[in-house]
Amino acid sequence: KPFRIRSCVSDVLERLESVIQGQQAVIKIDMPDVDLTLAGDRFYWTQVLFNLIENALKQNPRKGLTVSIGCHRDEQLTRIWVADDGVGIPSADLPHIFRRFYRVEKHHSQEEIKGTGLGLSIVKRAIEAHGGTINVSSIPGQETRFTIEVPRDAEAKLQAEADANALPELSKMD
Ligand code: ATP
Ligand code: MG
Repeated sequence: KPFRIRSCVSDVLERLESVIQGQQAVIKIDMPDVDLTLAGDRFYWTQVLFNLIENALKQNPRKGLTVSIGCHRDEQLTRIWVADDGVGIPSADLPHIFRRFYRVEKHHSQEEIKGTGLGLSIVKRAIEAHGGTINVSSIPGQETRFTIEVPRDAEAKLQAEADANALPELSKMD
């Protein structure tokens, strides 16, 4: 059933609280409509946002990183974004990062950051299962931004399917 995007983000930030505090990361939330809801599976969307926000923090273990999280809806679509001002992703790697097990090779002098390289491939699949898309842009050292778009009609279709599959209310049964 539809859930509030804002509360989903709150759950994720709570789960990452110790990392955020440890890194003294600044979290900026740009969600003018706190009641904005999204159709679909709240569990999936929590995983999606967790992966994106965790990536921003994990790839930038320095202090004082800024992570911006926002959402906006117009007549056509719902857009959600997660951006950071960290090291970024080299343009040569950008086309590949949604592939399973793909991880950007780090310079020898940098300490190894742990991960399986699966996160973004799962994120992409979950979004596509909701009829949406995800894109990334990166200016290393300046801004790395993941943008999710879910067309309103895809959401409506998903909601209609969910309603059709819902169990009848007990009160309406003989
Ligand atoms: P896992 O998510 O399974 O723990 P992972 O984080 O390495 O592992 P992905 O989430 O798929 O895997 O990310 C793939 C790669 O993309 C990362 O290893 C990293 O190199 C790069 N990447 C993803 N997000 C960012 C970001 N915000 N800033 C810089 N690099 C990123
Ligand atoms: Mg990850």
